[in-house]
Amino acid sequence: MLCAVVFLGAVVAPADTIVLKNGRRIVANNVREEGDKVKYETSAGELSLPKSIVDHIEKGGSVPMGDSPAAAAANLAITPPAMGAISGGTEIESGAVHDGAIDREYIAKLEAAAHAGNQRANAGTALAHHAAAQFELSRGDMERALADERTALTYSPEEPALLMNVAYLHLRRSEYKQSLDYLERARRVAPDNADVAKLEGWAYYGMNKMDQAVAEWKRALALRPDPEVQTALDKAQRDKQEEESYKENESSHFTLRYSGSAEPALAREVLHTLEAHFSAIESELNFAPPDSIGVVLYTQEAFADITRAPGWVGALNDGRIRVPVQGLTGVTPELSRVLKHELTHSFVGQKTRGHAPTWIQEGLAQWMEGKRSGDNAAVLAQVFQGGHAASLGQLEGSWMGLQNDAAGYAYAWALANIEYIVQTGGMSDIERILDRIGSGSSTEAALREVLHSDYNDLMQSTAEYLRKTYGH
Ligand SMILES: [Zn+2]
Repeated sequence: MLCAVVFLGAVVAPADTIVLKNGRRIVANNVREEGDKVKYETSAGELSLPKSIVDHIEKGGSVPMGDSPAAAAANLAITPPAMGAISGGTEIESGAVHDGAIDREYIAKLEAAAHAGNQRANAGTALAHHAAAQFELSRGDMERALADERTALTYSPEEPALLMNVAYLHLRRSEYKQSLDYLERARRVAPDNADVAKLEGWAYYGMNKMDQAVAEWKRALALRPDPEVQTALDKAQRDKQEEESYKENESSHFTLRYSGSAEPALAREVLHTLEAHFSAIESELNFAPPDSIGVVLYTQEAFADITRAPGWVGALNDGRIRVPVQGLTGVTPELSRVLKHELTHSFVGQKTRGHAPTWIQEGLAQWMEGKRSGDNAAVLAQVFQGGHAASLGQLEGSWMGLQNDAAGYAYAWALANIEYIVQTGGMSDIERILDRIGSGSSTEAALREVLHSDYNDLMQSTAEYLRKTYGH
């Protein structure tokens, strides 16, 4: 999530001129184990100093939130491994998927032939299911894609490309451990396959095992040059180098790192503040993220350097909360709001398994930090009436390409819609919407089920709400 300090001209409330806005997030790994950390009590609560960063017992569960370059990297731009050609393959593929749909009857016939003991039909059936899975993947239906890919595997259990494609789908779902199981199987069959190393690197990266990620990606490159791997490797090495120089603290829900120039007292106060916000958001959303949340405090330069954020972005995230804190010795009210905003993204990300659209992420994060539509309401209502408002569908994906003022409007609309939903149906409506998104619904389908509204209805109602609530 981008968390920008956006100047909306006349539309912006004074509170929006925050200097510190932060945070991309990467994987939030589950480190519930007590491990061999040294724990100690301070006024800020329980803290600990682990013997090393790698000491964590981590499981998969990253929360890619697809917004920033950093998030895009956590959600790595890696294409699925290609299937080798088999004879008659093209015919099977176009039999299985044609006219924009999967031909289940065709696939059933292949299956019947395979079950009748036709050895060649096994490979064909596997390929047909694989084609179906690719089609579903292209539609964003991970659940069905995975089901088909796994079925494909039952017909051709030793086929490395199928093993890798199942692994790939698990990676896309941030299920790193599961993906590793399939990759290990693929490696046994095809030990020198560059794609196996490439995907294993991704799995380790997702589990925050940087040393192993780097090793696998180096191995992949040695086997075959690949710009996707090079990009991923560069990023992992940058992260690793940067974070190795960080000190570490821990509280019950957070692992916090900070550069030598940050005050230890500030770090403790940040953790204390985050824990308080954690309780507040937990009771609002009726949910606690199962995975511990990484937080990194930066100097301004280190932040710009590692996040590579464009100028207008005050912050971004991909699973870890990243906060520039240069010059601060304590938690100011502004910093506290930034932390709550960022923390909301972690909750939403984990609750929806990374599938919340940007407008819900940013709308809810702003709501939680205490922003309300206020001064923006009149302008937004006017923009809507003039037919110039962006649709919520347009605000689902990345906001990275937006210009300053467009980004300002995007944030303002996101807040307004969330505000309308909360003020009308309560936070429980939000909770139910997030749950449905988390279990695979599209956002609009979730809205239809919970609010009985589609995107147009919601915008309409929000515009009316703004007029009624803030109009004079
Ligand atoms: Zn944000």
